[in-house]
Amino acid sequence: MVMGDLAREVDVAVVGGGPGGYSAAFRCAELGLETVVVDAGERLGGACLYAGCIPSKALLHVAALMHEVERARELGLHYGEPRLGLDALRTWKAERVVGKLARGLAAVAKSKGVEVTGGRAVLEDSRTLRVEGVRMETIRFKHAIIATGSRPAALPGVTIVSEHVMDSTGALELADVPERLLVIGGGYIGLELGTVYATLGSRVTLVEMTDGLLPGVDRDLVGPLARRLENLFAAVHLNTKVTALHESGAGVLVELEGRDAEAFDRVLVAVGRQPQSAGLGLETTRVRVDGRGSLVVDDRCRTDDPHIYAAGDVTGEPMLAHRAMRQGKVAAEVIAGRPAAFDNVVVPAVVFTDPELAWCGLTERLAEEAGRPVKVARFSWTASGRAATLGRTDGLTKLVVDPESGVVLGAGVVGPGAGELIAEAALAVETSALAEDVASTIHAHPTLSESWMETAETLTLRRR
Ligand code: FAD
Ligand code: NAD
Repeated sequence: MVMGDLAREVDVAVVGGGPGGYSAAFRCAELGLETVVVDAGERLGGACLYAGCIPSKALLHVAALMHEVERARELGLHYGEPRLGLDALRTWKAERVVGKLARGLAAVAKSKGVEVTGGRAVLEDSRTLRVEGVRMETIRFKHAIIATGSRPAALPGVTIVSEHVMDSTGALELADVPERLLVIGGGYIGLELGTVYATLGSRVTLVEMTDGLLPGVDRDLVGPLARRLENLFAAVHLNTKVTALHESGAGVLVELEGRDAEAFDRVLVAVGRQPQSAGLGLETTRVRVDGRGSLVVDDRCRTDDPHIYAAGDVTGEPMLAHRAMRQGKVAAEVIAGRPAAFDNVVVPAVVFTDPELAWCGLTERLAEEAGRPVKVARFSWTASGRAATLGRTDGLTKLVVDPESGVVLGAGVVGPGAGELIAEAALAVETSALAEDVASTIHAHPTLSESWMETAETLTLRRR
């Protein structure tokens, strides 16, 4: 602390204003704790609002619209060729979507009495933060919640600094629609943003180092998406690694393992994200960091330091906004002395491609690996009335249940609207519903949600 600085005192200092941080801060304030959020950007929203969930879903909505218009031709509807106004699109995304939500968050903070201060926070000890911003400030806290999020992982073994190589943040800025785009990584970001650029007109080549897209995700669900992407993308190279990138004229020359070098106008690197835990001064506290840089927390979001809690991506996988929000609320409640815990059975996952993919709980593969017997049922959307009316019978719904009790243990779905559909399955798994419960619940007709009922029915019939 600089001589003459006045340290202010608060009940809770939240470091990071993303979904983990703002959810924690709002709950702290609701529970009567004086709370300040320190965010490097002096605003609430974090990666999710400014460079993640929201802008990517806005662009995916545009891609979905374009795809629908194209498909409409099959139904005899012709709208002509789309004309893309990039400036208008960027303005809509920045102002009507991101800006509107940002103003909403700022208003909520104000109404709850949560102060947001700008600057980079560095811990000086287990009770003190130094804020390095426009002005320097020292904050003494009874408790801190670290919610500093994550950052894109670098491509291992490849070093290049080039305006033609971008991460997801750069890709979401949509500076242009390159003619030839290489996407490195066939995970969430590679597939979502690859879909955006391919639909807007780029020739997208995707490189994935493992033998399939979305490694670890149920292959029954990935199949329909992989087939669609084979048509949408110019090429998908599995089992392939990028060995070198060279700046070349107005683009990048890319060396791929076992293939000829290829030129691209832009490259998007999307090979995972890493917790943002470096440079936080954690060494001045008792907080423990694991080998991957994640802050180690228990089910109450407590670190090893009794004054410091953590929430969100900085605590490791799964790095999803809804998990961060739940953890933030748990941390706040525990600090306020409430009996809360992050004891959720499922954290649903959604890939917002077309078709969408969503899953939660136990998968068939995880059950197999654990040697756990399960019953599995699949329902093809070729038999769904609603899917037929939408012209989208390419979907599939899947349930994993305990063979003895009939309790629903896991669920997956691929098809349009999967991201919304998974909510019912998450509730079923979270509340240990039986397949019979799902089968005997009246689902409105004709809806895609009926597919849960149909899938569960096949299981209950087999049980009798
Ligand atoms: P962040 O949202 O990363 O917020 C951390 C904040 O901390 C930032 O504002 C940062 O400026 C601040 N900060 C960092 N260090 C300091 C410091 N020392 N001092 C002060 N402030 C600091 N998840 C989903 O669930 N659904 C999606 O559809 C989805 N889409 C995504 C799309 C993309 C392209 C990306 C990149 C991610 C996506 N995610 C999605 C993941 C989601 O964005 C994260 O899981 C979520 O933002 C994590 O929230 P957080 O609060 O932990 O951290
Ligand atoms: P990811 O972990 O989802 O996928 C990374 C992919 O890159 C994997 O398939 C991996 O095998 C591959 N890969 C790794 N190294 C490679 C290499 N050298 N060459 C080729 N391929 C390589 O990571 P991501 O797509 O960067 O996304 C990061 C995280 O952000 C996600 O894990 C998720 O937590 C979050 N996210 C969520 C959503 C959503 O919820 N819809 C959307 C975007 C991002």
